[in-house]
Amino acid sequence: MDPALLHAALLPWFDAAARPLPWRTTRDPYRVWVSEVMLQQTQVDTVLRYYERFLARFPTVEALAAADDEDVRALWSGLGFYRRARNLHAAARRVVAEHGGVVPRDPAALGALPGLGRYTVGAVLSIAHDDALPLVDGNVARVLARLFRVPGDPTAGPALRRLWSLAERLVPRRRPGDWNQALMELGATVCRPTSPRCEACPLAAWCEARAAGEVERFPEPRRRAKVVAQRRAAVCLVRPDGAFLLARRPDDGLLAGLWELPAVDLAPRERPATAARRLARSLGAGDARLVRVGQAEHQFTHRHWTVDVFRGDASVTPGAGRWVTPGDLEALGVPTASRKVLAEAGVLAIRPAAASARPR
Ligand code: SF4
Repeated sequence: MDPALLHAALLPWFDAAARPLPWRTTRDPYRVWVSEVMLQQTQVDTVLRYYERFLARFPTVEALAAADDEDVRALWSGLGFYRRARNLHAAARRVVAEHGGVVPRDPAALGALPGLGRYTVGAVLSIAHDDALPLVDGNVARVLARLFRVPGDPTAGPALRRLWSLAERLVPRRRPGDWNQALMELGATVCRPTSPRCEACPLAAWCEARAAGEVERFPEPRRRAKVVAQRRAAVCLVRPDGAFLLARRPDDGLLAGLWELPAVDLAPRERPATAARRLARSLGAGDARLVRVGQAEHQFTHRHWTVDVFRGDASVTPGAGRWVTPGDLEALGVPTASRKVLAEAGVLAIRPAAASARPR
């Protein structure tokens, strides 16, 4: 198949059909980079609520590099996948320290920064500078797997390598950034995971899966890692003035450095009430009368939390953690999982929607 035919069909379609998204009005590599990091594993609708706010606070790479960890976490709260924010922040600091505040244009130098894999490097350089670099994300993988009937798990191994090599072969010298965005847009709006709108697809004439009547067969399902179920107990200690105690998660691992109600994993066969009592004692609040007030569920990529929530009056001042009121939460990094638990505890009125883990 001649790539020029695909370019001639897809680029005009993109010019006419592209959704007007705020990051499409800029070629500033820093802004493109922020949007690409936010969009990884998160839907466009969710990112729209965060992108402008984040850039209003950190309009330049220097501003982000100079920011407190706490401020960055707070502005990322609810977007999920917090490692992305930590990497973005660390990478911004390195851009300032090692590259004079200029996002490197050399793919190797850009790819050496924390959190920047081949996808992000291709996206930033092709969109910001029109460098002819390919990219493959979930949407592009789906479109290419159908166009060329690529068998196998598209997220790993030979199938992924084949998708990258196809993307490399197809990326044009003229308008590579628009081409990459057009493929992603086609995957998001037309070549959807289920019920693709082939009748409206500008590439339908060349689509091998469609010609074979096998659109639903591609891409083949990925091999999913097992989801681990984890039972936890959380304790909400409330002072007479209404303030409640939050604890900070460890600096490594899941939800690193973010705030939550003090919580523990249940030991094997341990009852939630027993775990809550054990936790209260460790907080120096062994006298508190704990009442079970609800249960929260949260699904991470490879883990499912079921959290029994207990509430009690605090008559002591525990040594660790921070006393806060609901109004303080905006300034802290409080992830969606913690907000669900806070809602069950009755200290956060609105039960928030979980950040999506689906790609754009
Ligand atoms: S014809 Fe259908 S399956 Fe093929 S690329 Fe277009 S939308 Fe996807």
